[in-house]
Amino acid sequence: MRHESCKVLVIGAGPGGYVCALRAAQAGMDTVVVEAVAPGGTCLNVGCIPSKALIHAADAFHSTAQMATDNPLGIRAAAPTIDLARTMAWKDGIVSRLTGGVKGLMAKARVRLVQGQARILDGKSVEVTTAEGPVRISTEHLVIATGSRPVELPGLPFGGDVLSSTDALALTAVPERLAVVGGGYIGLEIGTALAKLGARVTVVEAGPRILPQYDAELTRPVAARLKALGVEVLTGARATGHAAGVLAVETAEGKREVAADKVLVTVGRAPATQGFGLETLGLTMDGPFIAIDRRCRTSMREVYAIGDVTGEPMLAHRAMAQGELAAAVIAGGREDWDRRAIPAVCYTDPEIVTVGLLPGAAKGAAVATFRFAGNGRALSLGRDDGFVRVVHDSDSELILGLQAVGAGVAELAGEFALALEMAATLTDIAATIHAHPTLGETMQEAALKGLGRALHL
Ligand code: FAD
Ligand code: NAD
Repeated sequence: MRHESCKVLVIGAGPGGYVCALRAAQAGMDTVVVEAVAPGGTCLNVGCIPSKALIHAADAFHSTAQMATDNPLGIRAAAPTIDLARTMAWKDGIVSRLTGGVKGLMAKARVRLVQGQARILDGKSVEVTTAEGPVRISTEHLVIATGSRPVELPGLPFGGDVLSSTDALALTAVPERLAVVGGGYIGLEIGTALAKLGARVTVVEAGPRILPQYDAELTRPVAARLKALGVEVLTGARATGHAAGVLAVETAEGKREVAADKVLVTVGRAPATQGFGLETLGLTMDGPFIAIDRRCRTSMREVYAIGDVTGEPMLAHRAMAQGELAAAVIAGGREDWDRRAIPAVCYTDPEIVTVGLLPGAAKGAAVATFRFAGNGRALSLGRDDGFVRVVHDSDSELILGLQAVGAGVAELAGEFALALEMAATLTDIAATIHAHPTLGETMQEAALKGLGRALHL
């Protein structure tokens, strides 16, 4: 058996693992990353990037289809068709460019990438099953960045016509009738895209509404758009099984049958903690996740954990920020998790952005809302649904949270996060000149409204 040693060993080359490895190597530490599938992890290969590529293609198809009907823009176009296999090949090209880029960055930083399945032997050694045979690697510091996996439902195991998100992102034909079980991030993002491509979609959601972690005001424009797209949403509903093109569903009103050629199950993701010897470390857990402190340290000395395996929110940018932090701590830095907010974007139609506290989450908080119906940019883009909402301390004017729902609002996430990170007040935002016409002016208007001096209301 081949033996290697290093200072930092990272298991998993997803956004958490590869960023940690890059930073560790840049700090001069001899670093190895072990990856079983492909650099970039879930996010680049079967998550964030391919789903956004599919959403973009679906939007382009859908707007072209609208141009084939009577439309206020006065454009006449022929009804489009789609070759989904070609769309997927285009998407795969984007994925390869990005994963190749990650590989290149790691090579440039002199991170050693070992391709294979890692098994933890103890806190200082790992055995990797590679194509060339087993490799034993000893390390001073171990970073666990194994990510997460889709949750399976007992009555709907993945396989055949029951799809995971990974399967849905590899479809080569649009299903005629699709049922989406779980109306959260993934189900709504992919379900909406497939509806725009022509599938008849039914969403089966156990909660009282879609995206139940958000308030009804924020999700209402998304629900309205789903309805306009012909998507049926069943809430308070659970799917129990699928056979012969029929999905069995239980609702408060009784049993229902939903016609579905394919069923996409998106009921959450579970941390990847099984099957690679993690239990040998006997780490303290936080429910199903690995418990960490504010410096990404686990309960065992010199063993760290980052990303989805450490809990919610399971987002790529959180994993990356933790990756940087863990590398800095290993390098002897004094940093700890001092971030004020982690933005979240849901790429539904319209998009939802949230940063910081939702209304009602803080005592003494007030809320100011400005609607896109009063924003020139939104109107000139042909969409006036949605709003920006500022949650602020009613005494100090300190901004505690920002939310938006509207077409294209994903790009406001950076400004929202910056406002919270810089401890901005309503006056700071109101006094910042926002370019005209932009969607961001709505944030300034909401701040002005919070100060009691709205301009365009
Ligand atoms: P992962 O990206 O899951 O990477 C873990 C890596 O570890 C994997 O490559 C795996 O192969 C490897 N691994 C695991 N065990 C072993 C082992 N024993 N040996 C060797 N290698 C191992 N997040 C966003 O922020 N924005 C989005 O738009 C977004 N969209 C998403 C869309 C979909 C369809 C999905 C499924 C997820 C999406 N996410 C999104 C979530 C995002 O992908 C994750 O939060 C992120 O990838 C977590 O990064 P990570 O490094 O913790 O783990
Ligand atoms: P999710 O937690 O967003 O949504 C799961 C939904 O399934 C919930 O609404 C839940 O009420 C519902 N549900 C649970 N059990 C059910 C059942 N038996 N029947 C019907 N409905 C049921 O999970 P997800 O959509 O699988 O996504 C997983 C994670 O991936 C997200 O939490 C997020 O962190 C990440 N993600 C992020 C993005 C993004 O940032 N744009 C996109 C996709 C995924």
